Amino acid sequence: MLKLRSPSQQEQILSLAMRQIEKMLKEMQTSGKDLSRLKLKKFQKTHHIDCKCKLCENAKTKNDLRLRGLLEDGFKVYVAGEKKNTQ
Ligand SMILES: [Zn+2]
Repeated sequence: MLKLRSPSQQEQILSLAMRQIEKMLKEMQTSGKDLSRLKLKKFQKTHHIDCKCKLCENAKTKNDLRLRGLLEDGFKVYVAGEKKNTQ
């Protein structure tokens, strides 16, 4: 994960990423893929189920999975009800 120094840098990286995604989707569409029902959703991956770090131990004692340690962000891509994970 990159360390970001300022909000303007974060914005630059975000807009760069958006352009990359847009380009990729346009290429997919050009090659004949139907993207009309494509949906993109951001999610955060949690640590492995057997992780023993403080956050995960705490989540286990409190029985609340939302307290688990988090890894980097991931994206879920949905097409027509079918689920696919990308990383
Ligand atoms: Zn953990």
